[in-house]
Amino acid sequence: MNTVAKGPEFVVSRAEGVWLWDQYGDRYLDGTASLWYCNVGHGRTEIADAVHRQISTLDAYTVYGDFANAPAIELSERLAAHAPVDDPRVILTCGGGESIDTAAKLARGYWAALGQPERQHLISRTGGYHGLNGFGTSIIGMDRFREGYGRLVEETSVVPYDSAEALEAEILRVGAHRVAAFFAEPVIGAGGVFLPPEGYFAEISRICRKYGVLFIVDSVICGFARMGNWFGIERFGVSPDMIVFAKGVSSGYLPLGGVVVDGRVADPFWNQEGNPFLHGTTYAGHPTACAAAMANMDILEREDLFTVSREVERHLDSALRGLESHPLVAEVRSGVGVMGAVELTEEALTERGITTAEVFAETRARGVIVRPVPKALLVSPPLVVTWEQIDHLTSTLAGALDAVM
Ligand code: PLP
Repeated sequence: MNTVAKGPEFVVSRAEGVWLWDQYGDRYLDGTASLWYCNVGHGRTEIADAVHRQISTLDAYTVYGDFANAPAIELSERLAAHAPVDDPRVILTCGGGESIDTAAKLARGYWAALGQPERQHLISRTGGYHGLNGFGTSIIGMDRFREGYGRLVEETSVVPYDSAEALEAEILRVGAHRVAAFFAEPVIGAGGVFLPPEGYFAEISRICRKYGVLFIVDSVICGFARMGNWFGIERFGVSPDMIVFAKGVSSGYLPLGGVVVDGRVADPFWNQEGNPFLHGTTYAGHPTACAAAMANMDILEREDLFTVSREVERHLDSALRGLESHPLVAEVRSGVGVMGAVELTEEALTERGITTAEVFAETRARGVIVRPVPKALLVSPPLVVTWEQIDHLTSTLAGALDAVM
């Protein structure tokens, strides 16, 4: 709010491919795919056409009770076919945070249905971002997002993002019989691009199985080719109990998210009388949003953006590494997925008082959008970005760093 109050606002007026234009007609390279979501790039007429066709046939209708619609069924089947989850079931929602709430409630409800209602505790990781709905605000790995809202969801705790031993120790501290689930992003995104250490997820998966803790992967950023596959976690060869997705599923053309659930976890709810999972939202399974997602998935497949993504990942990594020698830069984190962080030195941030907001503003003034977080500048361009555009992005960021020195 105080950014807007200082004015003038930056009004995004048009977008095409990796470019956007402001209200004055000036052009910018979208180095962040908006908020990590526009994987196929902007202005795809195939998605616009699919939306038009669907909205003219059936705009929207609830999927409450036994109501269904063809796009929601088809999308769920396609997602299930690609998910690295056993006997997958799909719950559709309108976004990431809502899906985290759904997964957390489902995890607790699952244990209650199995006669273990004391299994309530939710463990997440430092730096992890899971949206700002009720459960997301409660399990987020950055305290500043929780402060000032009173008591939130109780029985949660956070462990260091890079230590499987820390997870095991926390499960033992709480008592395995009280832990419902563990949440992790394949690569931590909004918290600052933190990559898992070698072998981390295999070990996590083993620990969760050993103590019967549900392993919930938050692939909201990492899915839909950003890590060169459908859900990101395939990269580490493990099969979680639930996968939360959003963003890249529709490249953000319309809001959509959801949870893929292991059949074993879904099972108690299918076989109970009445309505054992009293949960749902008005726009879940929205047919027009589902049509947009399927047109987006068609593009990912037709243009093989999975393979493209692996190549972009390598080029982005080497281009960002070029910034490591800059005097203001402490480290570059990249190399898994089309995303990276350029972290400033403590000396720059504290003694010299340089802020990432200043670097962001200088970069934007030079026609490139990056994302500032307290210690780093983050990049996550659309997957259709070219080598030349990546070099333009990193050299512009270098120029902005020089300007604030
Ligand atoms: N989970 C992750 C990993 C995210 O990055 C985000 C949003 O950035 C969310 C959840 C929340 O998604 P939404 O903003 O759609 O609620």
